[in-house]
Amino acid sequence: MSAPQTESLLRPAIAAMAGYVPGEQPRDRSYIKLNTNENPLELPAPAIVGALRRLDPNDFSRYPDPLANGVRDAAAALFGVTRDWIIAGNGSDDILTIAIRSFVDRGDTVATVQPSYSLYPVLAAIQDAALIEAPLNADFSLPVDLVEKIQGARLFFLARPNAPTGNSFPIGQVRDICERFNGVVLIDEAYVDFAEDHCAALAKEFPNVIVSRTLSKSYSLAGIRLGYALANPGLIEGMMKVKDSYNVNFVTQKLGEAALRDQAQLKMVVARIKQTRARVTGELRRRGFEVVDSQANFIFAKPPGAAADYFSALKDNGILVRYFTGERTRDYVRITIGTDAEMAEFLNVTDKLLKENT
Ligand SMILES: *Cc1c(COP(=O)(O)O)cnc(C)c1O
Repeated sequence: MSAPQTESLLRPAIAAMAGYVPGEQPRDRSYIKLNTNENPLELPAPAIVGALRRLDPNDFSRYPDPLANGVRDAAAALFGVTRDWIIAGNGSDDILTIAIRSFVDRGDTVATVQPSYSLYPVLAAIQDAALIEAPLNADFSLPVDLVEKIQGARLFFLARPNAPTGNSFPIGQVRDICERFNGVVLIDEAYVDFAEDHCAALAKEFPNVIVSRTLSKSYSLAGIRLGYALANPGLIEGMMKVKDSYNVNFVTQKLGEAALRDQAQLKMVVARIKQTRARVTGELRRRGFEVVDSQANFIFAKPPGAAADYFSALKDNGILVRYFTGERTRDYVRITIGTDAEMAEFLNVTDKLLKENT
């Protein structure tokens, strides 16, 4: 007898699926990193520095608060609700995982739109769920018959603003979906701080709506891993049973709570990113790019030539952006808004490449 092949030890759904591919985090050389929508830190936030100073290593030998109530209270205050409306996660990806485990059985259906966040199909595959990917219109807007296309699914993931396209969807249309769809609607607001409006009121109004948020983008805290969701206490209570007992570590709870309580810092950082976003959008359009109107901290842009070549040439020149193969996305690159100096260098290199190709 020989040991079984590892392939046959895996659940068939896992053996068959492709894993999620995160954006590169290269350590070999230094790039201007405009590929994973992190928010560049120009100066550490004083609230974070203060919270770090107050950390006591003696506390590290104990388990953290399993409910992360400090974080929940800070998040609840933002929405005028009590903590039983909030669940905290190890990043908002953890919230998405908890949601799929809470609401979707093996063989059930998960729905999303296409193109959107590439983690949703991966989570559906892990759960051995069927997947409906409703195509967005050519301009990346929501199709009018969306509810008809996704009805029957247990869970609908909607990133608003969407990724990787950066556009948002009219709130009235989203409200209509929440009202008519029979399953759970999870509105992923990873980029909402850069947008004109948000859907928190829908989570308060409808018993089947969850709004998820993250500190990875607007708060410049991707490394500490903190996200949370707002939903009615019935859904939150169910999700609390599913999450890992200590899913948010002690250090993250302390830093995250401090960050959530410092909304002035957030406003300042977001205003700067929005200003740079408007400027770079204009600069690219002047150079013949088609740019989707963005409500996020990145822009989705179609260069005058082949997007794949532009992506590679930028990389050769030390600038990392994101390129997604796939029919709807392969003519575009996704460019994270960095510091003004980074964006100036990005535009310089772009000018050089455009000149070489004419
Ligand atoms: C970045 C991102 C997330 C998750 O971020 P976390 O770092 O896990 O909080 C979730 N959804 C979308 C659409 C994202 O772009």
